[in-house]
Amino acid sequence: KAKRSGRNGYAFFDRTLHEQVRIRVDLEQALRGALDRGELSVHYQPIVDLATDELSGFEALMRWNHPELGTVSPLEFIPIAEDTGLIVESGAWLLEEAAAQLVRWRAQRPAGLPELHISVNISVRQLRDAALVGVVRGVLDRTGLPASALWLEITESGVMEDPEGVLADLRALRDLGVTLCIDDFGTGYSSLSYLRFIPAGIVKIDRSFLAGVGAGSANEAIVRAVVAMAHTLGQEVVAEGVETLVQRDWLREHGCDRAQGWLYGAPRPAKAQLLWMDRSVSMLHLGGLPS
Ligand code: C2E
Ligand code: MG
Ligand code: MG
Ligand code: MG
Repeated sequence: KAKRSGRNGYAFFDRTLHEQVRIRVDLEQALRGALDRGELSVHYQPIVDLATDELSGFEALMRWNHPELGTVSPLEFIPIAEDTGLIVESGAWLLEEAAAQLVRWRAQRPAGLPELHISVNISVRQLRDAALVGVVRGVLDRTGLPASALWLEITESGVMEDPEGVLADLRALRDLGVTLCIDDFGTGYSSLSYLRFIPAGIVKIDRSFLAGVGAGSANEAIVRAVVAMAHTLGQEVVAEGVETLVQRDWLREHGCDRAQGWLYGAPRPAKAQLLWMDRSVSMLHLGGLPS
């Protein structure tokens, strides 16, 4: 694009900065009423057991349907929700919505299949909110979801921002019976010495490390190291962003416990979610379905 020579000779970059600020302010304004107007919703993405390709649970992901802008990406609105503190209220809403949905799905589970779990992202801002443990306990009480079926995803950077402040709450959540997951593992500035103190049962390997896995990429060494480290610490490993059978086969062969990604299914609204997708995965992706 050409440089603009407007009043006072403002350069193009000044304009876009202005525009960026305005867009941000507009989004912030709109986000303030989004929950009350019913514009927020939850999508569910399957997490599968790699050994069997059987559905093990779901990650709940927040969606915002803006009346004019359409679907706004969480990568755009979650940071705003964090800065403004709106994430505290909307996060609590999502947690309750997702827990209630999982209780319904668990009731429909055919005999012989494992109990499903639900994984919910918790941002730094929520971690620092003194009410978090009470909010989680309240949701478990009201929905009847067993704590063992709830996973909470936190990021290394979220913990690192205020380790002393959040570790007590993380331990309290663990003591409730909730499973903590370290999300996007490998992307933050984590210090291994702190990592040791996070009472997490699960490590989720960020999808950026999945590129080229199974095709000889140097990422394979990283994934192998993470799996070895986590298993030594008694933690399970979930691979995020699994898109191909090559990745799936390599991960399975190298002891990764669970996987999540477009290979198994994209995030979808509850009513569109294919349940018991062990069968549909094998049919859709392993060549069993007529085209
Ligand atoms: P995340 O928690 O790491 O979630 C995984 C993201 O990867 C999701 O993006 C998901 O749609 C995407 N993904 C899943 N499988 C694949 C794949 O095979 N390939 C590719 N390319 N992408 C895949 P989404 O839904 O856009 O969410 C982005 C981020 O926004 C999340 O990353 C999380 O950090 C944040 N977020 C979403 N919902 C919530 C929420 O309710 N609360 C909080 N605090 N953060 C949320
Ligand atoms: Mg996550
Ligand atoms: Mg993640
Ligand atoms: Mg991620």
